[in-house]
Amino acid sequence: MATAGPEIEQLILLLARLPGLGPRSARRAVLQLIKKKDSLMVPLAAALERAVEAVTVCEVCGNVDTRSPCHVCADPRRAGSGLLIVVEDVADLWALERAGVGAVKYHVLGGVLSPLDGIGPDDLSIDALLKRAPEFEEIVLAVNATVEGQTTAHYITDRLAPSGVRITRLAHGVPVGGELDYLDEGTLSQALKARTRI
Ligand code: ZN
Repeated sequence: MATAGPEIEQLILLLARLPGLGPRSARRAVLQLIKKKDSLMVPLAAALERAVEAVTVCEVCGNVDTRSPCHVCADPRRAGSGLLIVVEDVADLWALERAGVGAVKYHVLGGVLSPLDGIGPDDLSIDALLKRAPEFEEIVLAVNATVEGQTTAHYITDRLAPSGVRITRLAHGVPVGGELDYLDEGTLSQALKARTRI
C-alpha cells in the first residue's frame, strides 16, 4: 500500500533502481529531497534536466561526457600518448582517472564476452579497438579479474596479435595496504608469480 502520492512513489521507485540504493535508501533519499526542497530538490531537478540535454557518448573512446570527442580524448597533453588502456566500463575509466594514471588514452569495451548472457564480440567495441590499435605502442587490457574479463582479454589479444602492438595486462596481487594473511590463495599465488625486483 502506498504511503504517499503517486508523484512521490514514482520518484522512490526510480531512485531505487540506482546502484547502491534499495527501496529503503530510496525512500530516505526522497524524504531528504522533500525536506530540502529549495536547497537540494530544485537544483537537482535542474541539474538532471541540463545533464539529459548534454550527455553524449564519445565517438572515439566510448566515454560518457557532454562533448564528443570527450575531454579525455581532446586533452592536448595526451595527444602523443602511445599508451591505450582498454576498460570494460566507463566507471573503470573514471576510476583510473581518479587514480591519476597520467597522460594515457582509453578505450571502453562496453562489457565483456559472456556467451551465457548472449554477449558476443559484435556487442563490444572490439572492431573500433582494432582500428585504433596501430596508433599506439602499448595496449593495456585493464579488464576485471573475473572469468569473463580474462576470457575477453584472451580473445582481444588474439585479435590484436597481427597488429604487432605490445599487449599487457594489469598486475594481479597484493593490494596496497593489504595483509597477506587476509588474502585468498588465488591472489597470493598470483602475487608470487608476478613478483618484481625491488
Ligand atoms: Zn573519448
